[in-house]
Amino acid sequence: MNAEIISVGTELTTGVVTDTNSAWLSRRLAELGVTVARHTTVADDRECLGEAMRSAAGRCELVIVNGGLGPTRDDLTRFALADVLGQPLEPNRKAQEQIEALFMKMGRRPSKADPVQAMIPRAATIIENAVGTAPGIEARVSGCRVFCLPGVPREMMRMFEEAADRISAEGGVAPVAIRALHTFGSYEADLGRRIDRFMEPGRNPAVGTTAAEGVISVRIVARETEGASARVLADRDEREIRAILSDLVFGTGSDTLALVVAQLLTKRRLTISTAESCTGGLLAKHLTDIPGSSEYMLRGYVTYSNESKTELLGVPVELLETHGAVSEEVARAMAAGCRARSGTDVAVSTTGIAGPTGGTAEKPVGLVYIGLAHGDEVEVRRCRFGSHLPRDAVRDRTCKTALNLMRLRLTNL
Ligand code: ATP
Ligand code: MG
Repeated sequence: MNAEIISVGTELTTGVVTDTNSAWLSRRLAELGVTVARHTTVADDRECLGEAMRSAAGRCELVIVNGGLGPTRDDLTRFALADVLGQPLEPNRKAQEQIEALFMKMGRRPSKADPVQAMIPRAATIIENAVGTAPGIEARVSGCRVFCLPGVPREMMRMFEEAADRISAEGGVAPVAIRALHTFGSYEADLGRRIDRFMEPGRNPAVGTTAAEGVISVRIVARETEGASARVLADRDEREIRAILSDLVFGTGSDTLALVVAQLLTKRRLTISTAESCTGGLLAKHLTDIPGSSEYMLRGYVTYSNESKTELLGVPVELLETHGAVSEEVARAMAAGCRARSGTDVAVSTTGIAGPTGGTAEKPVGLVYIGLAHGDEVEVRRCRFGSHLPRDAVRDRTCKTALNLMRLRLTNL
């Protein structure tokens, strides 16, 4: 089944509000086995909206319109739908009752403008709205099912579930199973090459990759076939892809590197401290973003100056003079000093050149050392993040690389 989404509102076309409804609807429709072919955004303009509905309905089997159902003069979805259907708007008793009941509950009297929300085209049906006033509308335009939902995200999401039931009840959509495997430590092209055979166009499950801030995610979308359920097909691909990518995979679904590290630290009852230079406390933020972080995170030093590295972490002055603050030796001494002074099981240090200034031929922007002290061992990773990366990205990649180092270390204990 093919679908299109139309988002309505001048606040969207003028860029005042970002259209997040379409993205959410597309994800939900994909889960139902419906392919979204197009997103259209139109201003609060009756003619434009009618034209958008008419042409979308001519191209696909399902159209979801969101926005423009309210009681004010700029809410024109019902009027445009009536135009497209060539039918007048009529008061709908069920809609009226629903609106009245809601107003009673809120101790309000319906205002003069409210009855319009109970008006729908003659042949249309309403979709109940349990969280707001405007009921949704379902109608058929030629052979295409059109659902009109409110624009307020919370109401739209709630009411979409009713639409989803109606869509699924009609049949013709194959259930879909979706998996997301998140990886860190590779490049998208490399990773793509390794799982190339899964990524052939037209294959079921469909496998694709997306890169976002250093995290590369592998998406598996399996459709049910005569022989196998979507879940079985997705599970098989997930297993095989995990075997190929091995410890590059750090999590699934809504997992983050910080969350995975937090879980490992908690499970192993280990404590951690941080000594940060170029990340200025960002790593400590990541580690304390997780509720319950006081179980493992004991202390974070931000040692930006050479003096603070010596004073707070005991990094020898000679080391800083001989090798410079951005060096393997200093990263090592920072991590070891941090662990010794904090009394934690694990300590992590960062020192590097986040840019855009401060780079030299020998130590370019994006050069970072990360130290990881665990027991008496200190491991140092030298990273060369591209000098094209903005400062924020260098700091972000540094934190993620540090978290990933911890993850690998703690996983293999
Ligand atoms: P109604 O909810 O009454 O059907 P409407 O959606 O046009 O009509 P608006 O007052 O225009 O109501 O929008 C309500 C709020 O919902 C807006 O302030 C906006 O923040 C949010 N919103 C509307 N459409 C979207 C969208 N496509 N994506 C994200 N937010 C949206
Ligand atoms: Mg609107």
